[in-house]
Amino acid sequence: MNFDKSENHVMIAQMVRDFAEKEIRPHLMKWDEEQFFPRDLFRKAGELGLMGVLVPTEYGGSGLSYFEYISVIEEIAKVCGSVGLSFAAHNSLCTNHILEFGNEEQKKKYLPRLASGEAVGAWGLTEANTGSDAMRMKCTAKQEGDYWIINGTKNWITHGISGEIVVVLVRTGELLDSHGISAFVVERGTPGFSGGKKENKLGMRSSETAELIFDNCKVHKSQLLGKEGEGFKQAMKILDGGRISIGALALGIAKGAMDASVKYSKERQQFGKPISEFQGISFKIADMATEIEAAELLLYQAADLKNKKLPVTTVSAMAKYYASEVSVRASTEAVQIFGGYGYTKDFPVEKFYRDSKLCTIGEGTSEIQKLVIARNILKN
Ligand SMILES: Cc1cc2nc3c(=O)[nH]c(=O)nc-3n(C[C@H](O)[C@H](O)[C@H](O)COP(=O)(O)OP(=O)(O)OC[C@H]3O[C@@H](n4cnc5c(N)ncnc54)[C@H](O)[C@@H]3O)c2cc1C
Repeated sequence: MNFDKSENHVMIAQMVRDFAEKEIRPHLMKWDEEQFFPRDLFRKAGELGLMGVLVPTEYGGSGLSYFEYISVIEEIAKVCGSVGLSFAAHNSLCTNHILEFGNEEQKKKYLPRLASGEAVGAWGLTEANTGSDAMRMKCTAKQEGDYWIINGTKNWITHGISGEIVVVLVRTGELLDSHGISAFVVERGTPGFSGGKKENKLGMRSSETAELIFDNCKVHKSQLLGKEGEGFKQAMKILDGGRISIGALALGIAKGAMDASVKYSKERQQFGKPISEFQGISFKIADMATEIEAAELLLYQAADLKNKKLPVTTVSAMAKYYASEVSVRASTEAVQIFGGYGYTKDFPVEKFYRDSKLCTIGEGTSEIQKLVIARNILKN
């Protein structure tokens, strides 16, 4: 396996690094403090092709592969996990669902708006009582002639209030029937559809997380993505790619925490020498570097399979599980390396520490990833 980056890939990573330094770094603590969702950033990122990274150019996207996509999310997350999470949800959940399962008319209608950042995307699977156990969802759609009537609430949805184009998974059949779930694309402004309560979160605070409320929301049958009853299967496929996305987010946070730790440990003096010269500190950095390297290789392995359209479920679950746990470990150790300063908002590591935890929860918890991995290993 050779995961050397192409010249174009290196250039894209540098462009995203510059974008993050210029457009995000100066504001990130204010946005975090105020839980401000930087909507305008989507338009600016859209101009650079970051809102439709995987979307073919014929639909207004950048037409890049999962390799470049990892770098886009990673470079943003090195600076700000919240923006990284928002870009990830927009690209790999909402936009990708329409790309993979939409018909030609739906792709032409929605993808250019999403890829340009004119519209923010959201993707709703989770409900208050069904997170890991999504199959038991209660939100329903009932057919009435040429229309479907959607009722229920989705919770914890990234861009639940600001998302203008929303893919929602709802029950169209019997409870626990894997063929009883369908996916619809719903536009903001459709009567009966609104955003609800915004969550006040530990981390990822400038990524908006909120409810989607459907109250007799009437959508035309042309809004169905794929066939009726295929929604659950579609969602699981989308999550295979989504896990690469969250893995990249975790990798970026871990690298951001390590970069800050390396710099600080060489500057901070105690007992007459830089703390990096204490083995207790340098070994933490050795562990971070080793685990980050391993996480990156797993992610590129998953991306390679995804690019080749080969089965990726097990490896993407491994990459997401491992990278997110590494992210939490690296940012925890980073706070330790910074000592008391690491516990304040004057230095970046406390934010990495808070943001990293989401990676072990969103798009399937670490426990669910282990369940997926074990199931696939043991069935052979
Ligand atoms: C910031 C943020 C953004 C999000 N964005 C979105 C979004 O855009 N769209 C969306 O649809 N969802 C989104 N989510 C929801 C997220 O995917 C869920 O929170 C996640 O899947 C876990 O579900 P839950 O919170 O209901 O936890 P639960 O499923 O209730 O799990 C609670 C605990 O039980 C464990 N557990 C559950 N089942 C098992 C089992 N079988 N074996 C072992 N352990 C188990 C879990 O690992 C966890 O530790 C978001 C969540 C957050 C926090």
